[in-house]
Amino acid sequence: MTENKIHIGGLTLKVLTDGILEFDPCVFFPSTNEDDWIPHKSHLNHNSNVVFELSCYLIESQSHTILIDTGMGPNPNVQDPNFPELSNAWGIFDKSLANNHIDPKDVDHVVFTHAHRDHIGWATIGSGDTISPMFPNATYWLNEKDWDATFDETISNRFPNASTKLWPLKDFDQLKFFDESTVIVPEITLIPSPGHSPGHYCILVQSEGNGVLIPGDLLHNIAQFEHFEWISRADIEPNDTIQSRKSVFELIVNKGLIVAGSHFASGFGTLDYIEHQYQWRSVEL
Ligand SMILES: [Zn+2]
Repeated sequence: MTENKIHIGGLTLKVLTDGILEFDPCVFFPSTNEDDWIPHKSHLNHNSNVVFELSCYLIESQSHTILIDTGMGPNPNVQDPNFPELSNAWGIFDKSLANNHIDPKDVDHVVFTHAHRDHIGWATIGSGDTISPMFPNATYWLNEKDWDATFDETISNRFPNASTKLWPLKDFDQLKFFDESTVIVPEITLIPSPGHSPGHYCILVQSEGNGVLIPGDLLHNIAQFEHFEWISRADIEPNDTIQSRKSVFELIVNKGLIVAGSHFASGFGTLDYIEHQYQWRSVEL
């Protein structure tokens, strides 16, 4: 990321990283081949891989400190046999907090775009009997459909760390469910965008006429603005994902929103709709 802080009207939004993941694009986006990526080489790294930033967002107002998503979590530095391609360049969110002088005790809301492992990883710390919420004074928010999905035998394998990162929050009485009618704080609008997961939401942050959209995993790479039909292997319901992309992309253009892509490697940008195609435009802030 080139810039880690922007102002949205009376709010400040800081990007806090938990590191990066790196994937072969044709493996992560199974419907694509190497030729498809030739026009999008600028969105690949020197190994021709897609790089996923693990970005979390801290929104500070006069009266609230709100965190959107919590990264992969503490890194055990052990190769996960289920995810052999995972690099070890993640697990640094605690350092990001410290570097930005943020005390976890000061966070009063944690909002999850969805319950996949790379978004709930720092929700708790410790293991076994010592598990406790990372943010002791926060209310954690999730859509109930993703909560239910973690218990659904047909898809629960998509939520491999829910039992240690999500379920304990309920025992600590710190988890609440939101939907699009919920007002966590007036500056945050919750936008249903199912498909990647059943209860996936994008987060729109607005203040004084300015707006920033945090798309979560609505898409994973900037090339997907042009190719919203490119499905990732992590999208649970591909057709719903495509419909959600169409409606949220339209919203971004119509409202002139800045996009803070959770997994994008290139900071903030916005969308233009030119000749029936969405085009990403980086924005210097
Ligand atoms: Zn993700």
